[in-house]
Amino acid sequence: MALGGHEQVWPQFVAGGSSVDAVEEVCRVTEDDPSVDSVGYGGLPDADGDVTVDGCIMCSPKRLGGVAAMRHHRHAVTVARRVMEQSKHLLLVGEAADEFAERHGIEATPMCTEKARQLWEQWRSDGSMPPQGMDRSLQSHQQVRPIQGSEGEVECPHDTIGTLAIDCSGSMAGACSTSGMPFKTPGRVGDSPIIGHGLYVEPGVGAATATGVGELVSAVCGSFLAVEALREGCNPIEAAGRVIERIDEVASPAADDQVAVIVLAADGSIGSAARLPGFRLLVSSEQGHQCMSPDLGEGGAG
Ligand code: ASP
Repeated sequence: MALGGHEQVWPQFVAGGSSVDAVEEVCRVTEDDPSVDSVGYGGLPDADGDVTVDGCIMCSPKRLGGVAAMRHHRHAVTVARRVMEQSKHLLLVGEAADEFAERHGIEATPMCTEKARQLWEQWRSDGSMPPQGMDRSLQSHQQVRPIQGSEGEVECPHDTIGTLAIDCSGSMAGACSTSGMPFKTPGRVGDSPIIGHGLYVEPGVGAATATGVGELVSAVCGSFLAVEALREGCNPIEAAGRVIERIDEVASPAADDQVAVIVLAADGSIGSAARLPGFRLLVSSEQGHQCMSPDLGEGGAG
């Protein structure tokens, strides 16, 4: 059973913890997990063999922060939160983001597991991508909300982690963390650290986060598009579906390009959509934790 950070974070959350603490903590657990090959410590390197991570956090259009292409700090969301709370800026990148983290008391951490190193060496020698089961089309997203849910397992491996939450006071937050596409061109940054692309949160309306081929998500400002659809009156399933439809309409995805989106409306209802099978989301609530597929993520469940 894989519950990401939900199991650890839940007791504090229901005892009155804030949504922003919850989304950060859930991401931290995955960022530390060496078995997750697309986030933090376990993430697969770029073409040069360096693991670089991207992430962001958002509470509202006035409270948001992101980091991209960090090489020495696996907790992208924690550094992004420092950007949000202790700088005047939205996004820091590269070595300067690592230096910012150091200056703000976040110590550097080892970034590449032995397994990730071996997969990179294999890819470099024969071009082979990670085996089935580590494929980018198998993804999981995680969501925390206080209203309902039940326990379930994530049978597929993790991909970019995107986490959304509403706390007891009704405050929303979201966070997103990734090591990006495996063996990416050095310097490549996807949707995950970009507000409106990999994540968007607007209090009173809702929140959305995305995973999959970042170039496709960014092409339609995916998470912003989903929240705008909520504002227009769509339910969360329709809002998530709109992102997938728009990508299919305008961005010419390849047949095996995965994109998935989860949406949390301000009333606690949820929805999700994915281009391809295999995507799972984990929903936690007062009833427990539940693993869902997009077709089960009923917007009316809240
Ligand atoms: N969206 C991430 C990126 O493009 C990767 C992923 O979710 O698999 O960097």
